[in-house]
Amino acid sequence: MYPPGLTNRLNLYHTTNIQKAKIEFYQYYQSSGINAGVNAYTVVFRKQNGVYVNGVSTMNSLDWVYGEVHINEYRMGTYSNVLRESIIIHEMLHVYGLKDQYYDPYSIMYGYTLYNVTDVTPDANAVINSKY
Ligand SMILES: [Zn+2]
Repeated sequence: MYPPGLTNRLNLYHTTNIQKAKIEFYQYYQSSGINAGVNAYTVVFRKQNGVYVNGVSTMNSLDWVYGEVHINEYRMGTYSNVLRESIIIHEMLHVYGLKDQYYDPYSIMYGYTLYNVTDVTPDANAVINSKY
């Protein structure tokens, strides 16, 4: 059951098997340098042997416990609300464990410019269902 008017199929209260997992959002402004072309990036932390880790080879076998979505105001400030929504949903799905893909431009997980996709597309939904 989803709230009236919402088509996004994410249930934010059960995102992992670990209780109290959370996503935090940060803004930064980077207009030059190697990251000036980045809309946003996401860092995901998981717990392995009692220690929070990210970037380890076993990441995909571990539940996430904490995610940070970092939003570049320099780029996002020029976009429509719909495109910003697409990018933020895309980044949140990275926290859930979904990866970029480069073959379907109408997928929420397309790794290049998103085309105002604001739903969790069937491909992404299938991955979520298989993980959780
Ligand atoms: Zn991505």
